[in-house]
Amino acid sequence: MKNLTGRAATCQYCGQLVHHHLQERATKFTLFFIPVFTTSRTYRITCSNCGQTSSIKPRQAKTLAW
Ligand SMILES: [Zn+2]
Repeated sequence: MKNLTGRAATCQYCGQLVHHHLQERATKFTLFFIPVFTTSRTYRITCSNCGQTSSIKPRQAKTLAW
C-alpha cells in the first residue's frame, strides 16, 4: 500500500469539503515469490473528517489529478 498526497474533496458520506487521503494498492504477479509486474492497481480514498473510505478506479484517480 502506497500513500499518495491526496487532496481536498467533498466527501460523499458527510458532505464536508475536507482533505482526503489517497492510497494506491498494486497487485503484483509473482514468479517464484518474486514480484514480476503489476497486474492491477486500485485506489482508495479516506475522508479525514468521518473516516469513510471509498474505492475509485485508476481512471478516476487520474482525472482527479491528485
Ligand atoms: Zn466524510
